[in-house]
Amino acid sequence: MNIPPDLKELLNTPQNVAILSHRNPDGDAIGSSLAMRHFLEQLGHTAHVLFPSEYPEEFEFLPGAEDIMIWDLQPEESKQMLQRKNMFVFLDFNSLSRIDKMGEFVRELPGRRLLIDHHLYPENMADYIFSETSASSTCELVYRFILAAGMGQKINPKVGECIYTGLVTDTGSFKHATNAEVFRIAADLIDRGVDDTYVQNKIFNSLKEKHLRLLGHCLASRMEILPEYRTGLIWLTKKDYEEFGIQRGDTEGIVNYLLMIKEVKMAAFIHNQPNIVKISLRSKGDLDVQEICRQHFNGGGHKNAAGAFSHDSLKVTIQKFKDILPLYKEELLKN
Ligand code: 5GP
Ligand code: MN
Repeated sequence: MNIPPDLKELLNTPQNVAILSHRNPDGDAIGSSLAMRHFLEQLGHTAHVLFPSEYPEEFEFLPGAEDIMIWDLQPEESKQMLQRKNMFVFLDFNSLSRIDKMGEFVRELPGRRLLIDHHLYPENMADYIFSETSASSTCELVYRFILAAGMGQKINPKVGECIYTGLVTDTGSFKHATNAEVFRIAADLIDRGVDDTYVQNKIFNSLKEKHLRLLGHCLASRMEILPEYRTGLIWLTKKDYEEFGIQRGDTEGIVNYLLMIKEVKMAAFIHNQPNIVKISLRSKGDLDVQEICRQHFNGGGHKNAAGAFSHDSLKVTIQKFKDILPLYKEELLKN
């Protein structure tokens, strides 16, 4: 990673920065945003983090999480904050359409733009683009960005904890999308004072009773295995949402259980959110679910983890998903 001289100069001159990430922010979105904030503040910048929608409760422990602004909850304050900014940092997304109305608003504002992300097909939406699809996480790229800027000493335990969160969550606790560099970064962060057990405990052992009951319901009554396509599917209806009091983030990770079945190569989680039907796909090995989401549902993501949404009904969306399986039969049955 190479930081051009004019960006270095920008970093060395206090700016008024807005750090933005995607709708339904996950550990990588939150971790990278807060890490960037704590890094920039040490350089004398003023920085605010803004997301389109709320983040899951388990990330409340992260330093600075309480100051994050949410567009959906405070649209007017968010707009006013954005209008005061002269620099925008886009993290963990690469297309302004991923941040809806916030994107339309920011598109028209003046100011320098920096994008750091690891999703495929970045839009040309920033003056400086650091996009590496082979990176485990945006947090990995933020870590490498800080080192490339020659400011490694700014990675204190606070910054480190935020970066570590994205590493852990985007790799499923170092189970996928890892490489030697990820483990070196993790080790370096621990050397710098990050407590791995504390972070993982906060993120993964903070469920409520309703989460386990919902998981039980999904596995017992909402799971379908299609062995002829080595595909597993879990769906949830609007009624399930009401019955289990499901809120944003409550269904996170459920799709991954399907991949625990030896024969399953592709996992789908299709659920009825208030206004849309959301699709999450996961795969093992070479099967590219990003391609499937993009081709058939106008979505995107990564090779082994992608998503999309549909305005059709749940039933129609599930049928559409099943109807495309024959197109991928050869790939699904390949070892
Ligand atoms: P999830 O299934 O956890 O919502 O998302 C998995 C991956 O797919 C994430 O990297 C996420 O950014 C991406 N993704 C999820 N939904 C969409 C979508 O509607 N459009 C695009 N382009 N990417 C998505
Ligand atoms: Mn990510």
